[in-house]
Amino acid sequence: MEIQYLEFMKHLFRFNRQVYLDHNATTPISSRVQKKMEQVLKYHYGNPSSFYGIGRKSAELVEDARRHVANTIHADSSEVYFTACATESNNAVLKSVTAHFHPKKNKIVSTPIEHPSVMNTLAYLATQGVVVELCPVDSQGRVLLAELEKRVDDDTFLVCCMLANNETGVIQDLRAVTKIARKNGALVLTDCVQALGKIPIDVHALDIDYASFSAHKLYGPKGIGALYVKQGNPFTPLLHGGHQESGLRAGTESLHNIVGFGAACQDVDKLLVDGGQIRRLKRRLIQRLKEIKPDCVINSPETESECLPNTLSITFPGVENAGLMGMLDYRGIAVSAGSACSTGEDTPSHVLKAIGLSDQAARETIRISLGPDTSARDIWYMAQVAQNYIEGRVSFVNMITPAQLNENILFDENTFILDVRPPNDRKKVRGLPNSHEVNPVFVEKYLKQLPRDKQILVYCPGGGLSVMISYYLKAKGFKRVTNLRGGLDGWEKRRGDLYQKYAGQNVTVLQPDEVDGLG
Ligand code: PLP
Repeated sequence: MEIQYLEFMKHLFRFNRQVYLDHNATTPISSRVQKKMEQVLKYHYGNPSSFYGIGRKSAELVEDARRHVANTIHADSSEVYFTACATESNNAVLKSVTAHFHPKKNKIVSTPIEHPSVMNTLAYLATQGVVVELCPVDSQGRVLLAELEKRVDDDTFLVCCMLANNETGVIQDLRAVTKIARKNGALVLTDCVQALGKIPIDVHALDIDYASFSAHKLYGPKGIGALYVKQGNPFTPLLHGGHQESGLRAGTESLHNIVGFGAACQDVDKLLVDGGQIRRLKRRLIQRLKEIKPDCVINSPETESECLPNTLSITFPGVENAGLMGMLDYRGIAVSAGSACSTGEDTPSHVLKAIGLSDQAARETIRISLGPDTSARDIWYMAQVAQNYIEGRVSFVNMITPAQLNENILFDENTFILDVRPPNDRKKVRGLPNSHEVNPVFVEKYLKQLPRDKQILVYCPGGGLSVMISYYLKAKGFKRVTNLRGGLDGWEKRRGDLYQKYAGQNVTVLQPDEVDGLG
């Protein structure tokens, strides 16, 4: 009896446990930061541009926060501007510097492992006539300096290279990069988003001209970024309007977020100290995962000085990341398959491809990113769940291959087909016949409408998102849940005949129930 009770408690404990191992996607807000922000929201509503007392107080808070950010990166306060996010910072620099130099100079040299906020802006600039060259990286993601030398010339006005990569954690030899840029008279933009709070940053010592930062990666709020512009460098605003931020970034300041960013920066020294413990935990995790799957491949640099202390990119040959992540999610563990922005798409991560992984290996790769709140027990638990999954000891969601999805299943009265594609994808490709469309962002708002006595067949474009939702449905008590492996893309390719005949027929759009997402 006692043993049964113990087992029951263990069961409960497991199912309620939350282990967050995706700190590179975002971080929980620290309670100290949160308190400061609450104070601002409650008492400091004055517009920093207003001259009367409460306005002046708000302006003072902005300047305090600016000083904290500047101190953390060893810049002067006059070189730091607040933006809405690092995506804006990257866009603003790339577009503004281009406007300054182009077409007198034509070229930007960057790397193939930059964040989409850089990659997609570069792709846009290329359509405007800018020559964009990407310097190859080695299998660890390090920029090949000899290749960089070959590409940077006197036609190059900007070299854009991140300090640390979000997916593998590789840290670049930025000093060597800036030297090459300087020799050719080019400016340097560095995305420091993942580095801030994980490794020390001194923008003057690194000799960079522009740098981008984001508060939500270091236990600060979402929706606030910063931009470093070295004194005297060209910069024109992306947004025109009021005179805020010395006229370089118009729009009433998001005061609580700015104060939150400043407060988060005040904790950076402590975060850097915590890095030692985080690195030790990562080492233990690597050792454990190697025991579980000896043929696993570590994509993050194993030389510790070349990798962020918290980041591990690992490939498990033969284990699709979608299924593994679904199982981890089912057990309350959050990891990611690539950068958060690309999760849900079936395209393998551009970073993993750039360091030489095949499409298949990229689909067998997960990113684990630890934080100061990660414990040894969390690591042990994550490894245990992964082991059970990898060794085939658990499988709660049925899988169906595209080839198996035939008319009998499509038109079976006891099968309820659930389309969890993001709405934009539906505009591009017709879905399975008899399917029921729901918005995957708030799938919990449809639960009451899903039949509990039927098999639920879940599909998305590539089979990744749907497997997470399949596991979610299992956790919510749906007994028979089946996931379409390879998704609609796979079915269209394998069963083109059925796709041509039936796709888009008899589709029902379900309306979400009114449930407050925060409730
Ligand atoms: N750069 C890197 C390396 C990132 O990891 C991210 C966020 O994932 C960004 C830029 C974009 O930051 P934000 O969310 O503030 O736009």
